[in-house]
Amino acid sequence: MTNNLQHALVIGGGIVGNLTAYLLATRGFKVTVIEADSLGSHASGFAFGELGDLEGAGIPDPLLNFSVWCNKRHESLSTELYEVSGIDNEFTTVQRVTLAFTSEEETRLKDHLKWQTQVEEYDTYWMNPDELTALEPRISSRCLGGAYISNAKAVEPYRCTLAAAQSAQKLGVETLLRKVTNLLGRGGTCEGVEFFGGRIQSDLVVLAMGPWTKLASEWCGIDIPVTPLKGQMLRLKTNGEPLKASFHYGSSYAASKSDGLIWAGTTEETVGFDETTTVEARDGIMADLLQSLPFLEDAELNQQTACLRPWSSDGIPIVCKAPGWDNLYICTGGGRKGILWSTGMAEGIVDIILNRNSVVPSLEELHISRFRGI
Ligand SMILES: Cc1cc2nc3c(=O)[nH]c(=O)nc-3n(C[C@H](O)[C@H](O)[C@H](O)COP(=O)(O)OP(=O)(O)OC[C@H]3O[C@@H](n4cnc5c(N)ncnc54)[C@H](O)[C@@H]3O)c2cc1C
Repeated sequence: MTNNLQHALVIGGGIVGNLTAYLLATRGFKVTVIEADSLGSHASGFAFGELGDLEGAGIPDPLLNFSVWCNKRHESLSTELYEVSGIDNEFTTVQRVTLAFTSEEETRLKDHLKWQTQVEEYDTYWMNPDELTALEPRISSRCLGGAYISNAKAVEPYRCTLAAAQSAQKLGVETLLRKVTNLLGRGGTCEGVEFFGGRIQSDLVVLAMGPWTKLASEWCGIDIPVTPLKGQMLRLKTNGEPLKASFHYGSSYAASKSDGLIWAGTTEETVGFDETTTVEARDGIMADLLQSLPFLEDAELNQQTACLRPWSSDGIPIVCKAPGWDNLYICTGGGRKGILWSTGMAEGIVDIILNRNSVVPSLEELHISRFRGI
């Protein structure tokens, strides 16, 4: 089904907004992305970039199938977006190990392995300390072993966002750098948006403003339960060999990236819309890192970043038509997995807009009505 005459307005130029715009354009919509700052200038441009579909909020239940689907869609989309835009988003296979330093962690990780090894897309098993040392001799000798995936996936998040944005632009999507301040229209029909300095009419509007989607609650009269969850990361320079795998420990991680640096993170801070870096976060990330990879003691800090994840009350995305509205859509809440989930969120919202059955698994789990009182 195509909708040649329909104009869609997507608010937010992160990974979710740009992918949604691209997919809508492939279905014949005329699309405008409206972005307050610049494309990919918030979490989508500064994430770690791993597609971790075997852990985290909503996994395995209810979002394992959704997450695996999203990962596979990244693979096909990265080729498609490269052909359209010429931008390589560095979709790649990586070795990934989640390390255990206490017997409780070891037990928990081995429990998870019982279902993780059943997921046919992945080659997953337990590595004992000797096997880990053979993989990466620089791991702390305190490590008790780790859950290993030989074929995890990753992308470079900024290039991923840019590939989507430039592909969308090649299909005629327009980008307007303005901050939206309200919706136009009442009584369940949205006629466009107001922004500083003007307004723009539209046949439908998608709210893809990351954590700032919360602020649209007042515009549409629906409490959208998403809040900013700040995450900081360090990019470190070292003279040694690149890390042999991506290493995870607790809720943190470190991996060598294509820029030659080791990216290490992260924090989970509830401090509102504050995107400043802090000394406390830097020291905390380094302290965690040195417990796992002590050789990084002499690493040089190249860059520190801070961004806001869109965190929904239950940690899983919100993808649906806004209740009580004919043509207003909500697509946010990717949380710590927003790069991974962006493909399913964007495909899902486009199917909802087109009012057709979706191939995206578990889409019904992402409706805002799961929250009480909505
Ligand atoms: C440190 C860190 C590491 C991460 N690592 C990973 C990872 O390894 N794997 C993974 O899957 N995910 C990861 N994530 C999560 C992921 O980055 C986010 O979930 C995802 O980028 C959110 O994308 P988004 O498009 O929804 O939001 P955003 O990227 O925040 O984009 C929203 C856009 O909307 C714009 N906007 C807001 N208000 C308005 C307005 N009024 N008018 C116009 N525009 C507006 C903003 O300027 C912004 O550009 C990480 C996040 C952090 C912080």
